[in-house]
Amino acid sequence: FKRLELEGKSQDELHQMGETFNHMIDLLESNYEKQKLFISNASHELKTPLTVIESYSSLLKRRGLKEPELFNESIEAIHSEALRMKEMTEQLLLLARHDDQWMLDLKLIDLNRFLTQVIRTYGDAFKRTIQLEFSLAGNTFIQTDENKLKQLLFIFLDNARKYSDDVIRVTARAEKSEVYIRIEDRGMGIPEKDLPRVFDRFYRVDEARNRKTGGSGLGLSLAKEIADALGVEIRLESTEGVGTAASISIKIT
Ligand code: ADP
Repeated sequence: FKRLELEGKSQDELHQMGETFNHMIDLLESNYEKQKLFISNASHELKTPLTVIESYSSLLKRRGLKEPELFNESIEAIHSEALRMKEMTEQLLLLARHDDQWMLDLKLIDLNRFLTQVIRTYGDAFKRTIQLEFSLAGNTFIQTDENKLKQLLFIFLDNARKYSDDVIRVTARAEKSEVYIRIEDRGMGIPEKDLPRVFDRFYRVDEARNRKTGGSGLGLSLAKEIADALGVEIRLESTEGVGTAASISIKIT
């Protein structure tokens, strides 16, 4: 702590210092409360897949050798819950690292080339058809962190893949000072009442409906943090039973 020099300060100055000090304490307290809530949510969310793993493995130990059907079901459940935990811990680590501020690696990238490559990699990895349409005037260059933008796109593509079975459509459009990337699916959509909450950490629309898709409820909150770090805007529009469109707008500097 810097030594407080109070001597010679006027009443007003002392009062102002007191206000600043109180404000700092409030900030520290609210950050501390947020951290506590985050840790208790994270522990709770990690405990669910662990409980499933624990109960299936004890079933396996007792009856696995005698009952092949139970053997297969248990291995399947243990595997998918382990994958869910892995995804969740990776996202938690990214979020925790973000609290210490991310370092951005800014470069000029050719959006056309970048998007074509990202979509191809993603489509091949998950064996999904992704339609890509450009209405960019020639080559559009943007100044950004390529890996972070890729992460952001992957989060939206992952959701479109998980919550729809149909073709995923990605469109890119450039205007004078902005570029828009839109990722659309014709899947189950999000009910209107849930839409404002899906960016909250751990929020999932419907645990039963989501169980088979995996996921942690952390993707979109991570998307928001990446978007803030990159200085880009993200939006989600959705109609239940019709589909969802996520869009990213990037200022061209
Ligand atoms: P998750 O890992 O559960 O997908 P997200 O934070 O990415 O977590 O999303 C939060 C919730 O929002 C999801 O659990 C899902 O219910 C809903 N959601 C997100 N994207 C879509 C989409 N494209 N279609 C339908 N529901 C979606």
